[in-house]
Amino acid sequence: MSERLTSSPKDVAHAGDLIGAGALVAFPTETVYGLGADARNGRAVAQIYQAKGRPSFNPLIVHVAHANVAREFGKWSETAQTLADAFWPGPLSLVLPLRKNTGLSELVTAGLESVAIRVPAGDLAQDLLAAFNGPIAAPSANPSGRISPTTAEHVLAGLDNKIAAVLDGGPCAVGLESTIVGLTGAPTLLRAGGVPREAIEAVLGHPLKDPEGSAISAPGQLESHYAPEARVRLNAETWAHDERTLGFGQMECDLNLSETADLIEAAANLFGHLHRLDAMGGAKIAVAPIPQTGLGAAINDRLKRAAAPR
Ligand code: AMP
Ligand code: MG
Repeated sequence: MSERLTSSPKDVAHAGDLIGAGALVAFPTETVYGLGADARNGRAVAQIYQAKGRPSFNPLIVHVAHANVAREFGKWSETAQTLADAFWPGPLSLVLPLRKNTGLSELVTAGLESVAIRVPAGDLAQDLLAAFNGPIAAPSANPSGRISPTTAEHVLAGLDNKIAAVLDGGPCAVGLESTIVGLTGAPTLLRAGGVPREAIEAVLGHPLKDPEGSAISAPGQLESHYAPEARVRLNAETWAHDERTLGFGQMECDLNLSETADLIEAAANLFGHLHRLDAMGGAKIAVAPIPQTGLGAAINDRLKRAAAPR
């Protein structure tokens, strides 16, 4: 059974300790209940996908206590400052160019060179961020494909036993997901949400762009696929001499996703290992077979995309 925690200081401190220990804690924000994990802990982030049963690794929004923390992870700009001043804390996520050596798990950004960050407004979310004192990765706290939860009961209906605890703060105020604005180029509306487009445009003094070549109904999908430079060969039973090799389980290889064939560890290592193999500079990467069970489905989904002809 997942623990049900209250907003008491003792319970909030406990929730912070759980996140610090790599466990999952659902918590209310002003938008919906989030499924939180330490954004610097790859295994913890992998468990978010496992608990939700997400079939693919979409990048996650990182929740922080204050804009000053956001600046440590994302490259800041005047526009970012303007939007943060106007809408944080609140239901606006900013996609910023990722800084180097942030300590964030590469699974949080799904291997991209951008990071989505927001400062949530809910009191309990802020209390939890203060108790944990670090960045919390959190998608909505529902099984994949189900509607977003706005009460602790909704969370437990979908995720009981799959998470360590839920912090019960009553119903969420907004009930809509955060608006996502991309700031890696000209300010772009990546997803409509709790902050209306017009309000953002009024503050900026100019219109937001729409994502190129995609409908708003496919939020953020456009630029959200990391793929290595090298060609990728999947389900390799043997290695060719000119390949960089990515193993799984006991085997000889350049890098191993998990020597113990642990899919959580493999998920946590996936993007980092692909980046490192790519950086070794070969033209080809071969990947050992990964079982299609549990997180293996999401790993294989991403590997397939990486291997697709481009
Ligand atoms: P949510 O489902 O509310 O957790 O929102 C996650 C969505 O935010 C993703 O599906 C993307 O659309 C967007 N997003 C998160 N991180 C990034 C990123 N690093 N770069 C671009 N878009 C992102
Ligand atoms: Mg969701």
